[in-house]
Amino acid sequence: MSDALPTRTVEGTLASSFSFSGTGLHSGLTTRVVVEAAKARTGIRFVRSDLPDAVEIPARVENVAGSTLATTLGLNGQHVSTVEHLLAALASESIDNARVLVDGPEVPILDGSALPFVRAIRAAGRHKLDVVRRQLVIRKEVSVNAGIRRALLRPASGFQIAIFLDFPHPYFDGSLFELALAPGVFAESVAWARTFCLEGEIDAMRRRGLALGGSLDNALVLDGDGVLNPGGLRGPHEAHRHKILDATGDLALLGLPVRGRLESWLPGHELHHLLLRTLLARPECWEAC
Ligand SMILES: [Zn+2]
Repeated sequence: MSDALPTRTVEGTLASSFSFSGTGLHSGLTTRVVVEAAKARTGIRFVRSDLPDAVEIPARVENVAGSTLATTLGLNGQHVSTVEHLLAALASESIDNARVLVDGPEVPILDGSALPFVRAIRAAGRHKLDVVRRQLVIRKEVSVNAGIRRALLRPASGFQIAIFLDFPHPYFDGSLFELALAPGVFAESVAWARTFCLEGEIDAMRRRGLALGGSLDNALVLDGDGVLNPGGLRGPHEAHRHKILDATGDLALLGLPVRGRLESWLPGHELHHLLLRTLLARPECWEAC
């Protein structure tokens, strides 16, 4: 351990393990997850603890095996899905290295937000590692288009995310919302925002074998002009904030904290994964330092 370096300039892992159990949003299966400390420079790795010969699956964009309504990581035919909320919480709490043992194919959705993960990480504590924490600094703008969706990363002094949504629904309060994600902002202003869908999308998702574990206990469901959940919204711009949560989890697949600004019009995991692959293929646009 080094006492000379402030906390956020050295890599971190968990000071103790934590675990949780629950239902997968898409599979409907119940799984148990154990998150434990890992060595410096190993990043976040998922392990299917229920499988013989389980491999470690690094949470990196090259291991993305699926992007439909959730991020699925895969390696050697072994998969873990809906990793994005846990990844966002680990990244935002400066946990650079951890092993995530999952005894099934999907991380539980819990309450649909990242708040249970942030609380568990804070209760477990952060352990400083004696290795300098690098950043991925965006040097030149990179953008991608996918149909009517568009996303870009461009240089900025800190880490910022701007989300543009275009749903004709009164709870969206206009289409643009952005945050500068200084330390602590995610936990306070983003982590509590739940995953959401429009009521009219549910049947189509279930016909595709998705959202089988979805309920009003783990998702915000918007109907024609309101919210089906009895308690209503947890706060203003909950849907936009959840898209920032998802984008934070997507960007965590770069394996380093990002210094730059993400702008995303009609965001989705697939769009963001395309953006990350495009960025990594253009080394003149970024620097790890
Ligand atoms: Zn989400």
